[in-house]
Amino acid sequence: MSIKNNLQSIKSTLPEDVTLVAVSKTKPVSELMQAYDAGQRIFGENKIQEMVEKHDVMPKDIKWHMIGHVQRNKVKYMAPFVSMIHAVDSIRLMEEINKQAMKHNRVIDCLLQIKIAKEDSKFGMSKSDAQSLLNSKSYAECTNVNIVGLMGMATFTDNKDQIKSEFDYLKSCYDELKSTNPIFNTLSMGMSGDYNLAIDCGSNMIRVGSSIFGSRNYN
Ligand SMILES: *Cc1c(COP(=O)(O)O)cnc(C)c1O
Repeated sequence: MSIKNNLQSIKSTLPEDVTLVAVSKTKPVSELMQAYDAGQRIFGENKIQEMVEKHDVMPKDIKWHMIGHVQRNKVKYMAPFVSMIHAVDSIRLMEEINKQAMKHNRVIDCLLQIKIAKEDSKFGMSKSDAQSLLNSKSYAECTNVNIVGLMGMATFTDNKDQIKSEFDYLKSCYDELKSTNPIFNTLSMGMSGDYNLAIDCGSNMIRVGSSIFGSRNYN
């Protein structure tokens, strides 16, 4: 199957209100361009430098999503162009994004990453930490950051019941926080292995890599 065929077959099954982020980390520009030529305009990367390099050489109508963990000292490199940052997990990171966005006269859409997996390795905040951030004086003063929803990653497991309960929990957090943050419009959950389940649980943004581009080689 080609990248174009993979994309078309995934998109043909998606409900209209679900946005597909094509996760292109580790993949060469030539392969991203195959997706672009098939109509894909939203790409997700997890390393800032790699995203900057691809942004520099690729068409300017692409929306770049940073889906990985963000180090504060690197926010400045993506602030001029990044379209959404999925994994905000602290007030300090939000403040740095605000500061850099301000320099470019931009308002950057962000999601708060909620820790839903049982594994230690996954980043993210608790629901109550997210609640406090959204209610903070600091967020009120961050005029150049819009927090428009939540993101989460389920445990890496074959146990569908466990994944479903983690997605259900994230959806309940989303609904609860949205009730006091009407700007919320994005729930980013679901990857190649679990995006159908995620959509059934209420996701409206999926991040799909290997099902589009094939498996990744990190060497
Ligand atoms: C790599 C990655 C994905 C995509 O994973 P696939 O299993 O290849 O679809 C989604 N979200 C995040 C945060 C990732 O780092």
